[in-house]
Amino acid sequence: MQFDHETYARILDNLHDGLYFVDTDRIITYWNKGAQRITGFSAAEVVGRSCADNVLSHVDGEGNSLCFGCCPLAASIGDGREREAEVYLHHKDGHRVPVLVRVSTLRDAAGNVLGGLELFTDMSTILVNSARVQELEKLAMLDTLTLLANRNYLEREFRSRFEKLKRYQESFGVLFIDIDHFKKVNDVYGHDVGDKILQFVATTFTTNSRPFDLYGRWGGEEFIGLIRNTGTEDLVLLGNRMRMLIEHSYLLHENQKLSVNISLGATMVIETDTMESLIKRADILLYESKIKGRNRLTLG
Ligand code: GH3
Ligand code: MG
Ligand code: MG
Repeated sequence: MQFDHETYARILDNLHDGLYFVDTDRIITYWNKGAQRITGFSAAEVVGRSCADNVLSHVDGEGNSLCFGCCPLAASIGDGREREAEVYLHHKDGHRVPVLVRVSTLRDAAGNVLGGLELFTDMSTILVNSARVQELEKLAMLDTLTLLANRNYLEREFRSRFEKLKRYQESFGVLFIDIDHFKKVNDVYGHDVGDKILQFVATTFTTNSRPFDLYGRWGGEEFIGLIRNTGTEDLVLLGNRMRMLIEHSYLLHENQKLSVNISLGATMVIETDTMESLIKRADILLYESKIKGRNRLTLG
């Protein structure tokens, strides 16, 4: 079977995965529709720009920026070897999206290096999320600004978690989360920008959480994560992963990167707890994170 140039182009464009090419200076020369779907950036917005230039800004699981120093694409262009990595890319709306990237070198027929290519697969729980949104909508349990579970729904979930704790000794943990210095963001950039930041923080929770965990909006800029199948170690790991992802997320507003940090209180349920005592403990731990300097998690 022989394909003409246009057919090849159409196949690449319609791959489910994101695909882009860069030249040897890491300037983006091709960007398919999958890349647009996963990142929110269209080809017109990114072709001709450097991939480090506020486009993807990959970070790894520890929050290290990959654009400067250890970019897998640059490494592949350098040594001709293929690489695979799990990283978090920047979405145009601000949140971080977990992706599996595979990179390799692009060569012409004579073997000269022309640049590199990156193929990336969306690893976020997007499908689970759209089912979750529909379910919450049906139950009128959706927070309309952030598309997270609202306070009512969280309370219902707490009741059901306590039932399961009593009946089956199924333990769970709580992350109580508050955005740092959020009032200042509103004061400086206005309430609408504040709302957009609340949205990307919330989307970071849902795209990067496990399907059986629930994140909801408790009120204002306070969120609760109800974390199942966990011990203290995992709870701290998950909470700090979220904190790191949000720290490395940003909204591009009038050419300025707007970021926020979160502080967390993390605690496991104990047998004598009620919903009130559990949330109170998490809230006190959150307060401890605030007075210790913010952008941190306190376990108790
Ligand atoms: P801290 O680090 O101590 O948490 O400082 P903070 O400024 O975040 O203090 P606090 O948590 O008390 O402030 C909450 C602010 O969040 C006040 C309010 O203006 C803002 N806020 C609450 N709900 C919304 C909302 O729906 N949209 C926007 N844009 N802002 C909100
Ligand atoms: Mg706050
Ligand atoms: Mg608050």
